[in-house]
Amino acid sequence: MSDISASEYISQQNALEDEARGLMPWNPSHCTYADGSLRQPIFACLDCGEIGVCYSCSIQCHADCHLEELFTKRGFTCDCGTERQESKKGEFWCHLRQNLDRDVPSLSNRYSQNFKGLFCDCHNKYKADIDSTMIQCVLGLECNEEWYHCCCILKKHDHARHCLQSAIQNNQVPSEFPAIDYFEGFICWKCVSRYFTVFQALMSHHRSSDVIAHKVAHLTTFEPLGSEDEAPSLSKKRKRDSNTEQLFSIMLKSGYDKVLLEIKEDLEKTDKLYVFLQDIAPFLINDDPVYEFPEDSDNDISTYELGTKALNTSLDRDTAVAGIQAMDDIKKKLSDFLRPFAEAGEVVKEEDIRNFFELQKGKPKNK
Ligand SMILES: [Zn+2]
Ligand SMILES: [Zn+2]
Ligand SMILES: [Zn+2]
Ligand SMILES: [Zn+2]
Ligand SMILES: [Zn+2]
Repeated sequence: MSDISASEYISQQNALEDEARGLMPWNPSHCTYADGSLRQPIFACLDCGEIGVCYSCSIQCHADCHLEELFTKRGFTCDCGTERQESKKGEFWCHLRQNLDRDVPSLSNRYSQNFKGLFCDCHNKYKADIDSTMIQCVLGLECNEEWYHCCCILKKHDHARHCLQSAIQNNQVPSEFPAIDYFEGFICWKCVSRYFTVFQALMSHHRSSDVIAHKVAHLTTFEPLGSEDEAPSLSKKRKRDSNTEQLFSIMLKSGYDKVLLEIKEDLEKTDKLYVFLQDIAPFLINDDPVYEFPEDSDNDISTYELGTKALNTSLDRDTAVAGIQAMDDIKKKLSDFLRPFAEAGEVVKEEDIRNFFELQKGKPKNK
């Protein structure tokens, strides 16, 4: 790869460009608190009261905190500098809103274990080295858009450790798991059972095979947990087993939104599937757009230029991103991180970028 010029190399690396742009495109200058409840990328701050903060606040107000990237959540209002934030860093509660008193928090934010840095039904921390494949529930009404390990989607484990061991042994995706590329959306067994009659109606619809790619059973492998008050626990266990026999998750085919719209349009307005698609989960047909932050364009350099500079000279901090120190720092680190890929002629994969961000959070040190 040494005989290829830096600019040639960079221009060939569309994947790199797209991935980097997908993650670093925005100018972190606007806190979304005043915009209210939005579908937006959320970061949990574990140091400030396990609150969820917007993209800009994650950089401008919580750069030194232990953050957990939660990716998008629907209907979330930034809690940086609200009464949910426990301690103040510096003069203002939120450095972007510059509020001297804490603002009123939204009533609609749903806080789940994700905000404590825990994920999946096994309630584990995200481990970038093992958990490269986790799937988010697109319905999320019961699970709050939880992320799941593939092995935990198939099985309930009585000990979290089993899950991680099997994840390693099975190279992350169990062989019996449907191929990730062959479905577009995932709805977890918790959300399916919450709206069981709706999903029954969908599955018995004559077009169900145009929407549903797979129905995957969620098995329980509970073992009796000792013998305290035997009779009640035994009957409880039996009851649980019979309830959970029919637990399953659903994988949706690509283009499911269009088919669901067609199905909805043919239904009576009193049909439970119609009501579900119209009022309860309209985003399955018309997904909420993810909030777009202002593009990082003024007085700034593009990813392309950044990559070229990274290959030629060290980044010129003065001309790079004036006034946005944290962003500049991250970009510089990103360019350093990308340099070996450029030198080795490798395409940067999504996991690599994700690992980069994990490293920025200093996570490996916490393990
Ligand atoms: Zn914010
Ligand atoms: Zn914080
Ligand atoms: Zn803030
Ligand atoms: Zn799990
Ligand atoms: Zn769910």
